[in-house]
Amino acid sequence: MIDIQSIREDFPILAHTVYGKPLIYFDNAATTQKPRAVVEKITDGYYHVNANVHRGVHFLSQAATEAHEKARQVVQQFLNAASPNEIIFTRGTTEAINLIASSFTEACMEEGDEVILSAMEHHSNIVPWQLQATRRGIVLKVVPVNGKGELCMDTYRSLFSERTKLVSLTHVSNVLGSINPVKEIIREAHAHDVPVLLDGAQSVPHIKVDMQALDVDFYVFSGHKIYGPTGIGVLYGKEKWLDKLPPYQGGGEMIASVSFEKTVFNELPYKFEAGTPDYIGSTVLAEALHYVGKIGLDAIAAYEKELLQYATRQLKTIDGTRIFGEAAEKSSVLSFLIGTIHPYDMGMLLDRLGIAVRTGHHCAQPLMNALGIEGTVRASFSFYNTKEEIDAFIAGVRQVKEMF
Ligand code: PMP
Repeated sequence: MIDIQSIREDFPILAHTVYGKPLIYFDNAATTQKPRAVVEKITDGYYHVNANVHRGVHFLSQAATEAHEKARQVVQQFLNAASPNEIIFTRGTTEAINLIASSFTEACMEEGDEVILSAMEHHSNIVPWQLQATRRGIVLKVVPVNGKGELCMDTYRSLFSERTKLVSLTHVSNVLGSINPVKEIIREAHAHDVPVLLDGAQSVPHIKVDMQALDVDFYVFSGHKIYGPTGIGVLYGKEKWLDKLPPYQGGGEMIASVSFEKTVFNELPYKFEAGTPDYIGSTVLAEALHYVGKIGLDAIAAYEKELLQYATRQLKTIDGTRIFGEAAEKSSVLSFLIGTIHPYDMGMLLDRLGIAVRTGHHCAQPLMNALGIEGTVRASFSFYNTKEEIDAFIAGVRQVKEMF
């Protein structure tokens, strides 16, 4: 059960007003707000345990190292990964995908080899592969999306060839909300001996994920979308894969020894963490995961589903509404257009009512092209949102519609 009153009190920003109206924050797919415990952990880290990690013999450095490595274990438990060596801290989802795109193609792909993506990918899971297509001549194969916003699984199965080396797909679409059938996706890929990377940016804040149950090879997410700080994210990788891949960046931390003749790389996970890590960010991310864990992802998923269904029903009562993404399995993202009203106009006018939604292509231009539109209005809900806020949002959309 969600205790909405006490949860909202944990998020000071939710009590703000904008233009004299109570803030209604429906841009959670872009980034989430932070509970007090998370913000306080940042101050606490800098006030009480700040010292560079891994290199110091002194008390503070050891305390900071311990906290940073404890945070890695918290992430490991959150994902149910087999070992902390499989948890690499990155700057976020984007950097994690770039790391795999660079290191995996270097170690495991040759010119003409193929990676399978989908039409609903965020630019973060397209452009890194395109860079490798230019640099190394790898080939991108794209799974199309059907009218409901679901992956065309028959086409997915038909895309495998002996040149397929990796499948890289989003777990949940940031535009359509579709929760992709990742178990089936992974089973199929593994039947062809092909590993799978899942972009978990939009899944980990909303649904329980389990690396070992999924048997996924690589999984990535961003701290800031799961109530944690900006600038930190996670790459999970099976140890057997990470062992095979070369480092992404060079520098301190990722080496065992350096001479001008030969550098020996450090072991996992440090091999992929060049330079001073964001050791405050890691401990704050761990705090955010504790917070989410306390509420419970099952309770979060159930409550957010209720919000999504309520908002969808209400929005459909407005004439001229088009909803993009009606997959059978869907997370709390609602993309829509009303008649011919431009999404920017809708977004700007809702903003004047204190309602924060996202408008535009949502970093998914190929998906917009497939849908034949320029952009959508996107309302995305969190467990701290309420039905009353949805009522205000629906009244706002009606008001904007009447102005046109
Ligand atoms: N993938 C998906 C599905 C996303 O929604 C986002 C953020 N909008 C990203 C990747 C990129 O995340 P970040 O900017 O935190 O690296």
